Amino acid sequence: MTRIEAPRGTHDVLPSEQPLWQKVTGEMERLCDLYGYRRIQTPVFEDVDLFQRTAGSGSDIVQKEMYVFEDRAQRRYALRPEGTASVVRAFVQHQPTTPWKAWYVTPAFRYERPQAGRYRQHHQLGVEVLGTDDPAVDVEVIAMAWRYYAALGLTRVRLLINSMGHDECRGEYLMLLRAHLASHATSLCDEHRATWSESPLRVLDCKRDECVAVTGAGPMLVEHLCANCRAHFDRVLAGLASIGIEATLDPRLVRGFDYYTRTTFEFVAEALEGAQKSIGGGGRYDKLAEQLGGKPTSGIGFGSGIERLLLALDAEEVGEGDLVNRRLDLFVVDTTGDDVATPLVDQLRGAGFATGRAYDGRSMKSQMKLADKSGARYALLVGPQEQEAGEVTIRDLRSESFGQAQQTVARVDVVATISNLLTK
Ligand SMILES: [Zn+2]
Ligand SMILES: [Zn+2]
Repeated sequence: MTRIEAPRGTHDVLPSEQPLWQKVTGEMERLCDLYGYRRIQTPVFEDVDLFQRTAGSGSDIVQKEMYVFEDRAQRRYALRPEGTASVVRAFVQHQPTTPWKAWYVTPAFRYERPQAGRYRQHHQLGVEVLGTDDPAVDVEVIAMAWRYYAALGLTRVRLLINSMGHDECRGEYLMLLRAHLASHATSLCDEHRATWSESPLRVLDCKRDECVAVTGAGPMLVEHLCANCRAHFDRVLAGLASIGIEATLDPRLVRGFDYYTRTTFEFVAEALEGAQKSIGGGGRYDKLAEQLGGKPTSGIGFGSGIERLLLALDAEEVGEGDLVNRRLDLFVVDTTGDDVATPLVDQLRGAGFATGRAYDGRSMKSQMKLADKSGARYALLVGPQEQEAGEVTIRDLRSESFGQAQQTVARVDVVATISNLLTK
């Protein structure tokens, strides 16, 4: 038989990798508790219209990268390409009291050419706040992300920030940008020479030399903000400075979604190369709830790709050192040939001890080897002699000298004795 493998561009997260994943999601959960975010889970597929409305039809994600399918009743769905749209959809649908603070960790799907740190199914975590446009919330969301990376041990992360303005001031800026791009269209990169007029903001995002040169000489949105957007942005910058977070203004930063308004930001891991450097980011989306049929509601969010984060942790050589796989407390070694282990491990697990055992009627020596490898603190030995006497021998697996490190107790006293030993 041919072997079936995971689909191209996907990967398994194996049990041995879980301590690192647990750290990455666990730190997020810890911070979310401190900042007052509660977790949300939404369906992994949604009406395709949700993402078409939110991402903007000019975006690569909708044009080429979304997993779209029809179910048996010919409804058109898409696998979630990113985290924010579903959370805002849930907000509009359930109308919770505001400000509403939610966090998520979820797989996300994009049909793109697989490469290092980019998968067709990858994983994201993030937060969203809906119901206020107070710049203090922008500061809080960015600060939380900043503290998150620091808590993971990353030291070479830079924060880039920009403002996308609001409908009106952006509209006026887009006219200036269009005029500039029109007069330099022939100097743009191959892709944007053909597409700049559909989505001029994407040209700002382009990393190719030709586009960088053209846009570098052109107008920047941050210089054309209206008074309100300028004041909002200044308060975000001042708020970040007041808590010691260093932000670098990047006037080209537009991110991959058309739904951003005002504050946008990105975190760059200096330990990574080129296009992989971006480990997370987000922005304000004051129009999104309305676009999904809700009342006008301001919102802002932050998201980070877990696989990309892991690359950054690896590149900075942090993350693995203090990780321990969840260890067993006990390991039952049963040589009675009578499966005394089954009721014994059942009792011990019921009492709250992580307990392992061997299978397949292995020899004493082989079972002791497994007990040692398991990382358990104590082995519980039951042979024919102990079985006969109604006893269990408890052996300390971390002690060098067997004589002192072993005691035999009555079967009925095992739980109490183990409790004492483990709390010592
Ligand atoms: Zn404005
Ligand atoms: Zn370009």
